[in-house]
Amino acid sequence: MNLHSQSVLAVNGGTPVINTELERYNPIGVEERNAVMSVMDTGILSQFLGSWEPEVGASFFGGPNVQAFEDACKDYFNVEHCVTVNSWTSGLTACLGAINLSPGDEVIVSPWTMCATATSILHWNAIPVFADIDPHTFTISPESIQNSISGRTKAVLAVDIFGQSCDVAEIRKVCTTHNLYFITDSAQAPGVFHNGKLVGTESDIGGFSLNCHKHINTGEGGIIVTNDCGLAQRARLIRNHGEAVVASHDFGSISNIIGHNYRLGELESAIGIQQLKKLHTNVLSRQRIASKLTAFFSNFEFLEPPYISDGNSHAYYIYGLKIKPGYINIHRDKVVDALIAEGITCLTHGYRNLHLLPLFQQKIAYGSNGFPWSSDICTRNVDYSKGICPIAEKLHDDYFFGFEMCIYNLTDGDLNLVLNAFEKVFTSLDSL
Ligand SMILES: *Cc1c(COP(=O)(O)O)cnc(C)c1O
Repeated sequence: MNLHSQSVLAVNGGTPVINTELERYNPIGVEERNAVMSVMDTGILSQFLGSWEPEVGASFFGGPNVQAFEDACKDYFNVEHCVTVNSWTSGLTACLGAINLSPGDEVIVSPWTMCATATSILHWNAIPVFADIDPHTFTISPESIQNSISGRTKAVLAVDIFGQSCDVAEIRKVCTTHNLYFITDSAQAPGVFHNGKLVGTESDIGGFSLNCHKHINTGEGGIIVTNDCGLAQRARLIRNHGEAVVASHDFGSISNIIGHNYRLGELESAIGIQQLKKLHTNVLSRQRIASKLTAFFSNFEFLEPPYISDGNSHAYYIYGLKIKPGYINIHRDKVVDALIAEGITCLTHGYRNLHLLPLFQQKIAYGSNGFPWSSDICTRNVDYSKGICPIAEKLHDDYFFGFEMCIYNLTDGDLNLVLNAFEKVFTSLDSL
């Protein structure tokens, strides 16, 4: 007879296991504070110039902290080029511009991700095509990519969702066969490995988010990484008013180098340098907590803890759990409601599938006439109906829930409370 089998679930009027707010994780320490104050003392919060003037200190490439942060990232991720940007949404848009998409080109992408992964494609008037995901790793399925290729496909944009690598070898194989760019969105997976290589460094171009929820946190920010000199140069031009620069220099092709201002500031870069030093420890501490969670969840037959494929390690941006189909008669939503009632507040149902967002259902990105899908640039009818990605849809509707453990500091005491709350609900499912 276990500890909780006698007690009434909070959702049924009992007392919640957790009745205090757990301590929030604060990633910012004295190192970040000091680094910021040093920049403040200089009075220079950004040193970018939107023109090519090496004589005034290479300001097209940003100030000293921007460049030092990029150098540190190059070293850490062991890549030839790193381009910082003011968000990873900007970074994705710059990556997609860097590969020189033509309007109407198609990019194959996962529906099980944050919306910017897909909307960044639309910023170049290219067309997202959604491929389904693997039911265990939640990363895009190479087989589904293969089935989604058309004559207009130009790239695959794969996401290292929740913190583990996509199936790099198989995706690369498909890309090579069909002459496609391979882009990665590793927003959630910095500092983890795939077959000994840092995740996000094996595609043609990709990168990481630095927003306040992510492993390296500068408030807002992003990092593009690539080993391709041409792609890096185009990304830098897109970051910093490209058209003003290409107009005065011989850069060859200027298509899709409409300039933006995606520049990261000196303060954020100074914070980023300090955060990067803590990344390894940060990932290890999450892995330590996750291994305790996995040991605990493995006691429950109806649950599938995070499945980590061979050669991968996991950053646990989200600790994902699946209710195995057929094991219990209670819907996931009821289980999650009961967990929330016990005081576990940081739970998610995973991603609302992107193809089901109004943007794709109505097929209107700009204006009111259905652009770009209704225009001449879109040469075939791309399907976004419910049913095109059955695995991702089912996960969201019925089986998945994620524990956002990184929101909290999770001391051993907090972790025990959380596990007690899970245990109370999981051993009283009959009363739901
Ligand atoms: C956070 C995130 C983004 C967007 O990054 P921002 O820095 O917030 O713009 C894109 N893709 C994924 C998978 C993310 O988790």
